[in-house]
Amino acid sequence: MTGNAVGAVPNQDSLDPADWTALRSQGHRMLDDMFDYLATLRERPVWQPAPDAVRGRFSQDLPRGASDLGEIHARFMSEILPYGVGNVHPGFMGWVQGGGTAVGMLAETLAAGLNANVGGRNQIPLEVERQITRWMRDLFGFPESASGVFVTGTSMANLIGVLVASRARLGAQVRSKGLAAQAQRLVAYTSVSAHGCVSQAMDLSGLGTDALRLIPIGADFRMQPQALRAAIAADRQAGCTPFLIVGSAGTVDVGAVDPLSELADIARQEGMWLHVDGAFGAMAMLSPELAPKLAGIERADSIAFDFHKWVQVPYDAGFVLVRDGQQHLDTFAADAAYLKRETRGIAGDSPWPCDFGPDLSRGFRALKTWFTLQVYGADALGRSIANSCRVARHLEARVRAEPLFELLAPASLNIVCFRYLPAGFETEQADQLNAAIVVALHEAGVAAPSTTTVDGKLVIRAAIVNHRTGTADVDRLVDAVLEIGQRMAAQVAR
Ligand SMILES: *Cc1c(COP(=O)(O)O)cnc(C)c1O
Repeated sequence: MTGNAVGAVPNQDSLDPADWTALRSQGHRMLDDMFDYLATLRERPVWQPAPDAVRGRFSQDLPRGASDLGEIHARFMSEILPYGVGNVHPGFMGWVQGGGTAVGMLAETLAAGLNANVGGRNQIPLEVERQITRWMRDLFGFPESASGVFVTGTSMANLIGVLVASRARLGAQVRSKGLAAQAQRLVAYTSVSAHGCVSQAMDLSGLGTDALRLIPIGADFRMQPQALRAAIAADRQAGCTPFLIVGSAGTVDVGAVDPLSELADIARQEGMWLHVDGAFGAMAMLSPELAPKLAGIERADSIAFDFHKWVQVPYDAGFVLVRDGQQHLDTFAADAAYLKRETRGIAGDSPWPCDFGPDLSRGFRALKTWFTLQVYGADALGRSIANSCRVARHLEARVRAEPLFELLAPASLNIVCFRYLPAGFETEQADQLNAAIVVALHEAGVAAPSTTTVDGKLVIRAAIVNHRTGTADVDRLVDAVLEIGQRMAAQVAR
C-alpha cells in the first residue's frame, strides 16, 4: 500500500490551510493586484521616500500569534509595494537594474509552489538548469565540455571565476593547504573601471586586493592592452605569477567593452586565464546587431553575467559559464557522506550544481529564466536589448543638442553620462549642482538616473536597461534636468 494509511488523522500542526477555497480566492486577489501594479506603472512616481510612519511599522516584535493573510497582504500593498527603488518603472535609469516581467513573476510563483531545492539529486528541475547551460554554451561559442551554474549575481559569479582560475593555476593542493603554503605570488589584472566586486573577489579568495593590478583605460574607456602587457612584464620581473585577466563586457560606469580579442591573445601568450565580467553586457550576444561589439568573448575561459539585468528575469539570477567544466568541478566538488551519489534513485544524476559552487541548498532560479527565454524567445529579448541602446543614442543626441549639457561618455552600449553645466560653474560647484539635480529628480519621482565620476567629474548617469523605457522617458529626463538645473543654478547665482 502506498500513501497515507486509511483513517490517518491529518496533522493538526501542518501549515496547510483548513479552507483551500478561501486561500484560493485570496491568492487570486494577490495575483490580480500585481497585474494591476505592472499594468499601471506609469501612473506612479518612479520612486518616493517612505514616510517615517511607514518605516516605523517595521519595528514590531516577532509576532507570536497568527494574522489573517488578507490583512498582511493589505499591509504589503500599502506599506511595501509603493516604496521599492522603482526599477520596474520605465523612468528608472539608475545603476544597472532589470525591470522584470509578468512572465518572470508567474514563473517565480510556480517555482515557489514547487519548492524545488536544486542543489542536486535526480530531478528534472536540474535538467532545466542544464538546458540553460547548454543554451549559454552555444550562445557564447563554448565547447560541449563547458559547465555553468546559477548564482545570486555577477558578484558571486566573478568570485567563482577567480576561484576556478586560481585553483587551475595552483593545483589540487591549494584546496587543502591553502594559499599560505604557496611560494608563488599570484597577481591578476583588470581595468580601472572594472566593477568593485572584482576587487572584492580577490579579497574573498584570499589572494588580496593588492594582488589586483588596475590597468589604465584609453579615451574610449577600454583597457589599454599595451599597459596590460607592460604590467605583466613588470610583475614577472619582480617574481610574481600573473595568472588572471578580468575583462569587462560593458563597464558599470559607461558601458565600455574591453578589447576582448586582444586580451584573449595576451592571455594565450602569457598562459593566463581570461575571465569576462559581462554582468549586463554579455547578454548583448542575443542581438545580432550588437553581438559584434563583444568579439573575443568566445575565447574567454569563463564568463560571469546576469539574467536579472538586460534579460529582465526577476531578481536574482546570476550565472557563470566555465570553458573547462572539469576545472570548474575540481574547484568545488567535495566528498561528504550525507551527499553520497548513487547511480539510481534520488541520489543519482551526478554531478550536481552544488559541485560547481559554494551553495548547497539553492532555489530554482533556472525556471524563471527558462520561462523568459521560451515565452519571449531569444530574438525578442535581443531586440529589446538593441532598443535600449537606441534609446540611449536618442538621449545622447538630445544631450549633444543642448548647449547647457556636457556629454562625458557617449553611448557605447546603453549608458549615457552627462552633466548640466551653466556658464561660469567651477568643477566643484558643478559636481554639487549635478548631485543635487539627481536627488531632486528622485524626490520628484519623474526619473531616476544615478551618478558616477568620469574624468574626475561627477556626472548624471542614465543606464537604459529596463525594457519598458522608451524615447519619451528619456525626453522627460532631459526636460526635467533642464528645468531643475535652471532653477537650482539661479538659486546658487543669487
Ligand atoms: C551589476 C554589475 C556587477 C554586479 O552584479 P550583481 O548581479 O549585482 O552581483 C558586476 N559587474 C558589472 C559590470 C555590473 O554591471
